[in-house]
Amino acid sequence: MIKFGPSGAGLSFAADGFSKTIDAPKWIKGKGLDLFEYSFGRGVRIGEETAKAYGAEFAANGVEISVHAPYFINMATDDEVKAENNHKYINDSIIALKNLGGNRCVFHPGSPLKKDRRDAMNILLGRMDILIEDLYENSHNDILLSVETMGKQAQLGDIDEVIEIVSRDPMLIPCIDFGHLNSRTCGGINGYDDYAKIIDKFINGVGFEKVDNMHIHFSKIEYSAKGEVRHLTFEDEVFGPDFEPLAKAFHEFNIHPYVVCESAGTQTEDSLYMKNYYNSIK
Ligand SMILES: [Zn+2]
Repeated sequence: MIKFGPSGAGLSFAADGFSKTIDAPKWIKGKGLDLFEYSFGRGVRIGEETAKAYGAEFAANGVEISVHAPYFINMATDDEVKAENNHKYINDSIIALKNLGGNRCVFHPGSPLKKDRRDAMNILLGRMDILIEDLYENSHNDILLSVETMGKQAQLGDIDEVIEIVSRDPMLIPCIDFGHLNSRTCGGINGYDDYAKIIDKFINGVGFEKVDNMHIHFSKIEYSAKGEVRHLTFEDEVFGPDFEPLAKAFHEFNIHPYVVCESAGTQTEDSLYMKNYYNSIK
């Protein structure tokens, strides 16, 4: 079984008369979905008690929970103070994740800024090793830390870079954001063969098991020559990528990723579309 669900509840949550996160698990389940991603994009601002209360609701409704670590993390920074803060943001995200009762934390690897790209990757890998050692020491290695493919060429997080990072430790898995990959290649995903090539490359790079269990972010995304501009909805017919051939690839490769929809406002409805479509072509 593949699990599908939204990142954040989207516009229909309020339209259905809800405003509090505590009501989200039951609502998600009522929509026929399986999971929810809680974004700490602008910072980890959830107390232990609140997180545990939400976690109890997620568990009671059988909705799996994952978290997205803050967007401002840059594991390739050469600033030691910033590096320490980044470790803290990931650590705080993981503690909140555990209080929520989940076991997947996604993060954006970072940017070289003015550095040479390879130098930046080497800094990032060194910092990842320190982070991972800390996570083992604090018994936080029982979660999956998911490294996302990014939408702008200027960001670290192309396919090869994510493979290189994820290969560092068993607790690391890929988060393939196909909208991001399509954006950074200015429309490089045009059907089944393109999806199959990407999945094949990841299987060769990190092994079948990590791909079978990987994280996916899916949305249609507008791009310019430099890559990602903004997230769209499934109404888009210009930028893509299309989900349907990816659903076929899930079946062909017999993989069971955790699929999170990041559409702009319609993420709940678009998740449900993906779930129904995937199940309809069995
Ligand atoms: Zn992300």
